[in-house]
Amino acid sequence: MPALAPSTLFDLPDTSPDPAVFAAPSGITVLSYGLGADSTAILLKFLAHPERYGLAPDLSDLVVVHAVTGDEWPDSLDYVDRLVLPRLRRAGVRLVQIARAGRHDADGVVVLDDSRSPRAIFQQGPMRLSDELREAGTVPQIASGRRTCSLRWKGFCLDQWAAAEFGGASFRRVIGYHYGELGRAEKDTRIQRLLNAEAGRTICEPFYPLILARQGRQEVEDYVLEHLGEPIRKSYCAMCPFSGVCASRSAHEQRLREHPHIAADVLRMEHVSMALNERSSLYGSASLYRRLTEDGRNRPVLRAFEESLDQAPYAIYEVRRIFFAARTADCREHHGRSCRSAKWWCRRPRTEQCRADHPDAGFEPWCPGAAGCRGAAAKGTAWRSVRTVWEGGRSTAEHMVREFAREHRFPLRRGEMSEIERAHYLATADGYPAAAGYVVAAPAGVRDKQRQNFEAAWTRHTGEIGSRWTPLRELPPQEARRFTGGKPLIRQARTLGGVTFIP
Ligand code: SF4
Ligand SMILES: [Zn+2]
Ligand SMILES: [Zn+2]
Repeated sequence: MPALAPSTLFDLPDTSPDPAVFAAPSGITVLSYGLGADSTAILLKFLAHPERYGLAPDLSDLVVVHAVTGDEWPDSLDYVDRLVLPRLRRAGVRLVQIARAGRHDADGVVVLDDSRSPRAIFQQGPMRLSDELREAGTVPQIASGRRTCSLRWKGFCLDQWAAAEFGGASFRRVIGYHYGELGRAEKDTRIQRLLNAEAGRTICEPFYPLILARQGRQEVEDYVLEHLGEPIRKSYCAMCPFSGVCASRSAHEQRLREHPHIAADVLRMEHVSMALNERSSLYGSASLYRRLTEDGRNRPVLRAFEESLDQAPYAIYEVRRIFFAARTADCREHHGRSCRSAKWWCRRPRTEQCRADHPDAGFEPWCPGAAGCRGAAAKGTAWRSVRTVWEGGRSTAEHMVREFAREHRFPLRRGEMSEIERAHYLATADGYPAAAGYVVAAPAGVRDKQRQNFEAAWTRHTGEIGSRWTPLRELPPQEARRFTGGKPLIRQARTLGGVTFIP
């Protein structure tokens, strides 16, 4: 059988569907186990034929690591508990379960369990991804093309744990990309090579057994079914909006119907997120709520959600936003690399008249500018302030929002997608910079949050001082950013009598 060096990873052999692969058995192989079909299939292959994958016959050089987000579907946990863990126990394979210790990276990573006889997959660590999202009043998001949640709740934990575990020693990192994900694997390899080059050493070498075996999604699922006797379901967080990747819409909705209380939680998370920002539904141009209304079978789920709203403690939030102007091509052309002037009138070099009409410090939206000096504005960054101004029951909260609008003759508008009522006391004008303010009733639990300089910028842009309503509490103190100092902080949890303690 030919030996494949990692550098020839994508020069696949012509024939064998499950080729023998001899990786340098110099170190440890780490399989990051997401509980889904792909990594389960790889685990089964390793258990059946360790030698084919360059592993020791007793698998003593394999470490399976699972990052716990706290929002995995219960049936996925149950599947692995019943069908996979007994096999790991029999083979004495080391399973490490890790999770974020808190909101801040500097809080470190908790090892919930590190065992060669694991009894169960942990449902959650000290904090759940959904806790973080609820506090922030948002849903999982993509930034710069990458899923922030996955980076923070999986990637970060795995990297920190590996850094603490292996120090400077390299290891082999197994990833469950299947044959249909060749592109993702190639990208992953490129990134890892870059990281290795930056570090001046091989941190780890990626290894993709399913791609080498040329197994696509369906073959992988069939393989798991054949070996474990039950079809495996997709593994992902219940509120994952990237479910197009994780599972088809119909499979996802079926699962929500099977777990109406989880579905109600997810819908409530989306509801709060949209109350604070109409456009931040789970699917961008569509909300999960709307999608579910399209199928009559989802009625019990929607009822559970409505009931959960009625029972939830409610809050009135005052939401203020400042939309800054972005630099435009004109601005760059005339004002070079950095421009601290008002970017919306940077259509041409400033004239003496411009300087008189809208000097540097006085350019805010009320400045009309001299005719023709203004180019089209572009939207820049947006700042948001969320303050809790009242807490109590749902119907009172909604009534108070309506009364506020009626009393002051502010427009009361329903969100186009969310249908949530908001009393708008300040609406955005055309162009940028702009500012907007409204009050809205929604389930309580969002942490008050705004940037340190928000109030100053708000006053500068609107002439108003502070929020219209008095916030219930002071802003939480700005937590000084704590750095890990480059050293991973790993905490070992202890479990006594079924209760897990985190030091
Ligand atoms: S499954 Fe979805 S929500 Fe959960 S961490 Fe991954 S991308 Fe984020
Ligand atoms: Zn400029
Ligand atoms: Zn001008």
